Order: sequence, then structure tokens, then C-alpha cells
Amino acid sequence: MTRTFACALLSFFLFSLPAIAQSGQCTVANDPEYGKKIKEFTTESFFSTELVDHLAVSSCVPPPDAFLHHIIGAPDVLDYTKDINAYFRLLAGKSSRVKVWSIGTSEEGREMLVVAVSEESNLANLERYKTITAKLADPRGLSEADAQKLIAEGKPMYWADGSIHSPETGAPEMLMELAYRLAVEDTPFIEKIRQDSIVLITPIVETDGHDRVVDIYMQHKKHPDEPPYPLTWWGHYVAHDNNRDNLGITLALSRNMLKTFLDWHPTVMHDLHESVPYLYIMTGTGPYNAWLDPIVISEWQEMAYHEIEEMTKRGVIGVWTHGFYDGWAPNYLLSIANSHNSLGRFYETFGNGGADTLVRILHAEDTRREWYRPNPPLPKVKWSARDNINMQESAILFGMNNVASNHAQFLSNFYLKSKRAVAKARTEGPAAWVFPADDPRPAEQAALLNLLRLQGVEVQRIKRELRVPAAESSRETAGQGEKTQEKAAEKSESTAKDEKKPAETVIPAGSYVVRMDQPYSRLADMALDTQYYSSRDPRSYDDTGWTLGALRNVKTLRVADVGILDAAMQGVEKIDVPGGIDGQGKIFLIRHNTDNTLATLRFRLAGVPMEAAEDSFEADGLRFNAGTFILRNADRAQLEKPSVELGIRVHATNANLSVATHPVSAPRVAILHNWQNTQNDGWYRIAFDELKVPYTYIADTWVRETPNLREKFDVLILAPMSGGGVAGLSSVIRGFPMRGSPWPWKNSDETPNFVSPGLDSTDDIRGGLGYQGLANLERFVREGGLLIAVQNSAGIPVLGGMTEMVNVAEARSMQAPGSVVLSTVDDKKSPITYGYDDKLYVYFRQGPVITVGGNFGGSAPEEGPGARSSGRGSATDPDVIQARPYMLPEKPEKRTPHQQELYVPEDLPDFVRWTIPPADQQPRVVLRFGPEKELLLSGMIAGANEIAEKPAVVDVPHGKGHVVLFADNPMWRSETSGSYFLVFNSILNYDHLNAGAAHQAPASASSPKSAGAGYDAK
Ligand SMILES: [Zn+2]
Repeated sequence: MTRTFACALLSFFLFSLPAIAQSGQCTVANDPEYGKKIKEFTTESFFSTELVDHLAVSSCVPPPDAFLHHIIGAPDVLDYTKDINAYFRLLAGKSSRVKVWSIGTSEEGREMLVVAVSEESNLANLERYKTITAKLADPRGLSEADAQKLIAEGKPMYWADGSIHSPETGAPEMLMELAYRLAVEDTPFIEKIRQDSIVLITPIVETDGHDRVVDIYMQHKKHPDEPPYPLTWWGHYVAHDNNRDNLGITLALSRNMLKTFLDWHPTVMHDLHESVPYLYIMTGTGPYNAWLDPIVISEWQEMAYHEIEEMTKRGVIGVWTHGFYDGWAPNYLLSIANSHNSLGRFYETFGNGGADTLVRILHAEDTRREWYRPNPPLPKVKWSARDNINMQESAILFGMNNVASNHAQFLSNFYLKSKRAVAKARTEGPAAWVFPADDPRPAEQAALLNLLRLQGVEVQRIKRELRVPAAESSRETAGQGEKTQEKAAEKSESTAKDEKKPAETVIPAGSYVVRMDQPYSRLADMALDTQYYSSRDPRSYDDTGWTLGALRNVKTLRVADVGILDAAMQGVEKIDVPGGIDGQGKIFLIRHNTDNTLATLRFRLAGVPMEAAEDSFEADGLRFNAGTFILRNADRAQLEKPSVELGIRVHATNANLSVATHPVSAPRVAILHNWQNTQNDGWYRIAFDELKVPYTYIADTWVRETPNLREKFDVLILAPMSGGGVAGLSSVIRGFPMRGSPWPWKNSDETPNFVSPGLDSTDDIRGGLGYQGLANLERFVREGGLLIAVQNSAGIPVLGGMTEMVNVAEARSMQAPGSVVLSTVDDKKSPITYGYDDKLYVYFRQGPVITVGGNFGGSAPEEGPGARSSGRGSATDPDVIQARPYMLPEKPEKRTPHQQELYVPEDLPDFVRWTIPPADQQPRVVLRFGPEKELLLSGMIAGANEIAEKPAVVDVPHGKGHVVLFADNPMWRSETSGSYFLVFNSILNYDHLNAGAAHQAPASASSPKSAGAGYDAK
């Protein structure tokens, strides 16, 4: 019998039941059949509790198996989003204790839900309870007495959400049974939860990926002899990084969840994950996020230990805490709650990636007894989907019961955290963060402010110029000001010593102010502040630094002086940047300020010829920078509309421009993916999609089969590919093994959810890039294309032999787990740097280390101790050899990193000299990491000398085309929009990247020994 037919029959049966309230004629009784199956599918009694070893069934409300035809946790079956959502709707239709509403859709149009379960009277007053949590969330103007009344009247909301990570499939199933149990069962334990709290459930967070996982799982069940499909797309864009989007907030799921949070202010938000055995309850190892109210940290512990104790009391094995993640970065889904004064937490239960029952042999480190795991998992276990359900459901029920039983305490803590967040400006500070009105990047500034507003943060604007004591205003980020903590400390010390009246910082009229006396001050402060992650702390779980002002290249000013709070200012709604055309004339000039909307404009007016100024120039007495967009004889009306919409300022002129220019293209761009993992290219696709920069999404296998790539594209982008570092080239070339029969990735009756618009399909995902693909990429570049390769993907062109005088290598001992670092513009004439200042903060994670140079020897003579032979005098004295006249040693020659890279010794043998490419084929270091002492702005790097002053972005000519390599990642988690234009400049100038190259410019004076980039091989 097909499922559809069965459902139809069942619906007929169920809907013919009277839809009446629970009480009255409905009877509740244990369903012995359901209980028997639970027992059958549970592999060991110590993987269950009395809370979940049975199911009480109401005669009025259909239990999950009546709709799904299997009990929750049954082997070999998973359910699709639409069926799970349909069951919740059925539940809401039949039980007055359940309500369901939509919270939006995914990128591919699948619906996300919230299901509320509580006592009927509570649900009838849902709006009132929503008002209460909203008032407690923003206690400004609320008297203490009124607050206490609201706490006494209110109900805490416990929001459980499942399966943000698509292969973690247990929670959506568990949550159906949980909702049913909560709605129907009449035990005092369950009644307590229903009476004194409101449970909210979002069964599936990543609905797109969930349906692909179900496709893969069910398809493999039907064809067990074939290899199971890889989960190429966990969601529409990114894989498990969908849980790292809560600083950038670009995924639909993040937006839907954030908006729901801000609507309801749930007291607890609980993400359900699956990985380590058997049940890890999050507290974290620390370092904990330093911007949170410490109450949050103690609530993590209090809740975790309550659940561990209750589970352990019942003889359940392997429930533990502490040693899994750290609690530092605020980018996980649960941090929506933590950053907004609620309580965010998560579980990791053991999952089998589907509903198979499997014997699992555990890693030794997962079974060791530790202080935080006194009752560790067993080395070998038979594990079932039902075991997973039992663990999740039992523990979260203890958590929910804890919150309901202590409802006043949890609401009171929530209120206190909110109140202390408002007090922050005057207690721990700072008083405010300022976004100066003279920021040269108004669109990026507006985007960051609008992001804060999306997070619920209020933004104000000052009308008049304001002066604050400079000593109390701390460092600025992005582009100017003191950067390191060290320097800031030095500065304040010297100020104290001087006892001069501190200089003032002038905040121009029209600047934006984010006050720290508002409910979500902590979120704004943690997003904008710099981070210090001690290398003594445990290895970080994720990024250690994220300073958004720096990464987005937006000026921010940390103001400690509380006087700013008294300045006249007004709240602002969505910030739109004024744009449009001033002046008169046939030529239109747009300064390049790296606002990403300039890339949008170029592609929106793809048919309009544009040029780039190769140097700065003047027109009508105004100064225009290198990279300025020049439109000659353009249609004013055609330009006016987009410039207003995008907030771009245009100057019209008839001036005679005396500056060299070249055309700015609107080229055909492709972003390449493989079939193993699309995690990192997803962040590139999001950036391009948001800015409406068109691209084609192509597969490695397609590149392999397409010899003439140049015919189709101008630019190919290789985002970082997961796995293997630079040595991952071999897995990139091999891909999935060419064994068995062709392996199509297409929608079919068995896999209806594989492909959606924007994703890719193929007849065969096997074989990778192959040697032919590598050859095709080389030909593409040689024939004039631009290949952009980021981080470990730099290994493809470099190890593939396309880039003379360039090397990539893994870092030897450096640890850089995701930090904000300084880079400096090394080649101000390169079109890739158009619009940028001398300094730019970039995101850096672990490498690779790119080096440039012929490595011809001839490094500068050694200096310092150890450099001389044993002899007379001290370490720094010259060696005096006896019985001959003393000869002055050669003075060490100082060379910049740039000079050192291209240094060619005079005595280089001719056969080596001959291998040096001509000047116009030599690499150009465009951006360089800062010196070691200034390198780190936020986060942690140990062994930073390995990348200090090394190339960050390198442009390497090859044939008629170019390879541009990135050691940093310019498009990361929607946090790094300040670096986006390094990519866009490369794209827009792909056919004129040689502009401003030293070999094209007049020879500059340099030491005859250091040939520099202008060195011409003889
Ligand atoms: Zn997970």
C-alpha cells in the first residue's frame, strides 16, 4: 500500500472524529502497542527512562503512528518536511493544547513552523504571555513592582528546535512525539510543564537539507547495494556552517528564527544536534563569551547538571557536559537567545545519520572517564534511532519540567539580565558605539547598522557635532586609529603621565550612535568590540575573532564617556544611503570607495561602457581616486535611478580628464564546486546573490568535460575546498572514484528534492576535476581568463604549475583558528586595490602560507648573536682574523619584504637567471599581512611569524590571463564584506590586471642589487 493511499484512508478516519476539547468525552489511555514497539526498538534498558517508555493516547488526538504509519524512532524510516508539518497541523486541529503557525520559508520554499503546546487556557492567552515576555525583555520604564507582577503572572517559553544540521535526523521525529506527549499525557510531571510554561517547537530548522537527507536515506534503503549519495548540499548554500550565521544573518533559517525570537522572547532556546555519544549537554569548556551576563553561564550549568542528574539517577549511561565546545563565538543558532538576554543551549546526542540500528565502536577518547563525564559511554554499543529519541526526549522533558517548576526564577533571571543590559552603559561600559558620519563607505556603514537593527538593536542619530574626551574613547577599527590593545594601553599611560588636558574626538553631526543603555547592548558590543583569545585557553571550537566593524571595513568608535548618552539624538528606522547625480555634463564620475553596491551597479548597467581611472585626478576642483568609475556619454536618466536606489553618489562633468583609464568589464563569472562538499562556496554564492552579481554555478566534473572554458567564461572562482589543505589537490583531481556505474545527481521519483533553482545537476558526479580538468583550467587562464583561488584552493593553480615564482605551503606550527588580522596594500597601482585605504582588516584561518620569489639565495647577511664565529670581543663585535690587515665586513643590506621576494643576486648563475620569467609575467603581491606585532586585531594566532609580512593576495600573470591567489578568505560567513571588493575588483578588471604594474610604469629608483618587480631577465 502506498503511503499516500494510506494517508488518505487515515485522514478520512481521523477527520471523521469529532474535533472537541481534550477534556469532556475524550479518554486517555496507554497504547500498549506503541509501548511494545518502543521497547522493541530500544537496544538497552539503560537508554530509556520512565518518561518515554510508553505513550498515552487520547481518543480525540491522533498519535504520530496513526498518521506516519510508524512509531517515532522506528528503524529504517524518515519523514519529509511536508509530512512532519502536516502532522503538527493535524495535532493542532485536534487538540486545544496545540497551536501551529508558520515562521517563514527556506531558500527553496519549504515552510518552517512554530508549534506551541501548553494548557488550553494558556494558549487562549498567548498574546498576553507574549506581551509579558516583551515587557520583561525591555524593562525601560517598567517599575520594579510592575516587573514582579509580570513575573508572577507570566509563563516562561521553552523553544526546542530540531535538525539545523540536516544529517542529524532524530530531532524532527522526536519533537512530534514530544508534542503529542505534552498535549495528551495527564501525569503530574507533564501537567506541570503544560500549566506553568509554554513549549514552542520548531521541528526542522534546515528544511531544504532535511528533505535531501530523507531522499538519500530512503533511496539507499531501496538500493542497498548501491553507494549512498553524498549530501552535496546540506541546505541551499552552506553545510554545517548554517549554524555559524548569527553574526551575518543571511540564511533564511537564521532570519526566520531571529524574527521569531524577537516576536516571542522565549526564555530558553534549545538546539538539538547529533554527534558525540550518547548525550552531551552543553555548558562548554570556556573561554566563555566575555560579553554575556554571567547569569547566562550559571544557567547553562544549572540546567545541564539538573538533566544529567535526573538521567543518571535513572541509570542512563553516558550523559555528560563540558568537554565538547567552548562557549566563545556568538555565531551559533542558540546564540540568538544568549545574545538577547535569554538562555541558549544545545544537546548532542548520538546519531546514526538516519534510522539504521548499528553496532558502533567508539573512539577511546569518547569513553574515558573524566571529571565532567563520570559515567562515560561504553566502548561498543548497539545503537538505534529509538535510543537517540529516548535520550533527547527524556532529557529535554527534565529541562522543560525544571523551567516550569522554577518559572518565576527563570523569568526573573530574564528580567534581571535585560535590566543589567540596559545598565551596561553606566556600569561596565562602554557608553556607546559611534559610526561617524564621515565614513567613506556609507553603503557598508548602512548595511552594518541595518544588520544591528535586524538583530533588534536600536540605532540613533545625532543632529549636532559632538566632542568626547579622546582618552576615554577607545580604539577605532577599520582603516585608521590605534589598533592593538598594547598601543591603546601605551597611549592612555602616556596621557596620564603628560597630565595634559586630553584631546577631544570630534564626532560629526549626523553620526550614528548605538547606545549601550538598551536591552540588546550586549549583542552590539560583542559584535563590534575586539576579541582577545588567550593561547593558554583550550583550543577554540570555532572562530576566535569576528570584529564586524573591521571585517566590514566600517569605522566604529568605542566611546566610554557616558556624557554621550545625554546628547540629543533620535532613533532611526531602516537606513538608506542618499545617492544620485550632482553637477552637469556628459561624463559621469563615481569615486571608488569599495562599497559593494558599486559591483551591483556595474552588473545592473552591464551594457553601459565604464572605465576605471588608473590614478587619482581632479575634475571641477574635486579630487577623484584611482579606480574611479568613468562613464562617458551615458544616459543620465538611466544612471540616476540605480544610483539613487543603491546610494551611490555620481558627479557629472564636462571637464577634460587627464588620467589613464581602461575599460571596466561586466564579465561572465562562474563559481566552481565539487560534488563532495559545497560548504565554502556557499558563502560566495550568498554574497553574489545578495549583491545581484550574476554568476554560473559549475561543477568540477563539468570543467573536466569542457575543454574551451574561455569561450563560456571570463572569470572562474575557486572558493576554499574542504579537506586536505593545499595537499587536497589530489582529492580535487580524483573526486568520487570512477567505480561502478554513472552516478547522476538529478531529481527523480526517488530523489525529488536533490535539485532546486540555483543548485547544480549532472549525469555523473564521479571523477572529480581530473587531469583534464586541470589542463582545461590552465588553458582557460592562458587564453585570457582570470582564475581566483582562495586559501587551500590556491594549491590547484600553484601546485598545478600555473604560477611561476609562487609557492603555497601548509603552516608548520602556526595556529590561527579564525581571526581578524591586519593587511597592508603592497601595490597601490594594482586594480585589485582600487578604492581601498592603505590598511585593511581581513579574516584569516590557518593558511596556506603563500610565498613569492625565485628563492635564488642571496638572502641578506645574518645579524645578531650567533651570526659570527667565536673570537674576540662580544656577540656584536666584528671578527678580527690574525696575521692579516683587518677588513671591514660588508654592511647588511636592509630590504623590504617586497624587495627580498624579488631579489636577484649579482652572482646568480646564468642558467638560473634564464628561468626567471620576464617582468610582465612575474607575480605581483597586492596585499600583504601586517608585521607580526601589529598583525592580530581580534582572536588568537600562535606562531604568527609564519604569515607576518607574507603575501595575502597575489596576482600572477599566466599567458594572456591571470591567477589571483588569496591566503585570507575574502568571503566568509557574510561577516567580511569589507574584503568583498578585492574579489569584485579582480573580476571587473580581469582583462586589465596589468594596469599600473611596475614593468609598465617608468622605472623607479632602487638599489642596483634589488631588482624589484621591474627586473628584466637577460
Ligand atoms: Zn549539529
